[in-house]
Amino acid sequence: MTYVFEPAPIASVPVAGGDARFPVRRIYCVGRNYEAHAREMGHDPNREPPFFFSKPADAVLYVPPGSTGQFAYPGHSSNVHFEMELVAAIGKGGKDIPAANALDHVYGYALGLDMTRRDLQAEAKKLGRPWDTAKGFDHSAPIGPIHPVSKIGQLSQGAIWLNVNGAEKQRSDISQMIWPVADTIAFLSALFELQAGDLIFTGTPEGVGAVVKGDVMTGGVEGIGEFEVRVV
Ligand code: MN
Repeated sequence: MTYVFEPAPIASVPVAGGDARFPVRRIYCVGRNYEAHAREMGHDPNREPPFFFSKPADAVLYVPPGSTGQFAYPGHSSNVHFEMELVAAIGKGGKDIPAANALDHVYGYALGLDMTRRDLQAEAKKLGRPWDTAKGFDHSAPIGPIHPVSKIGQLSQGAIWLNVNGAEKQRSDISQMIWPVADTIAFLSALFELQAGDLIFTGTPEGVGAVVKGDVMTGGVEGIGEFEVRVV
C-alpha cells in the first residue's frame, strides 16, 4: 500500500522528564465547567450535563518549560481570548467508562490554553452555527509537557491561574470544576469511544479576556508548574 502523498506527521506533545512523546489523537474540550465562568458568559450554571466541542489534533502548540511559546494572533478576529485550562491526557481508551474507574484512563496532566476567537464564537452562537472557526483554528491549543500520573499522582484540587503582562486575570481552583475529570470522562466516553492519545481540555475558570500582539500570558496549575506564551 502506498499513500498518494506523504502523510502529515502525527501531532504529539513531549512527556515531562524524558525523551518520550505523547501522540495526540483527538482534542476534546468541555464548555462552561466552572460556575463563575458560566455566569460571566451569560449562563446559569445549574449543573446541566456537560457539553463538548473539539479542536484538530494538530492545533497543539507545544510550549517548552522555561522558554516562551509564540502564539500567532489569528486572522479574521479582533477579539481573541485566553482560557487557562487543566488538560487531561488519556492513556487507555474505553466506551461508557463509569466515573468510578475513569481516572484509571488518565495518563497524565498538562497546562493548556483554549485560545478562542470570541467574536466569531459570539456570531456562531447568535446564528446557530458551529464553533470550529472560533475554537479549532491553527495553533489554538498551546500546551505544556504532559506530566504522568505515575510521577505526580491525580490532580483534583489546587490553584489554576493566568496572568497577562504580570497582572492576574484568572485565579480559581480546579476543585471548582462543575464536572470533575472523572465525570467528564464518563460523559465524554458515552458520546465517543475514547482512545489513548485523546486530550481533554477541562474548561476554564472566570476572568477570561482578550489579548493583543505583544502580550505575555503566564499560566499555571498547582502541581504541574507554569508556562509562558507571547502573542505575536
Ligand atoms: Mn475552554
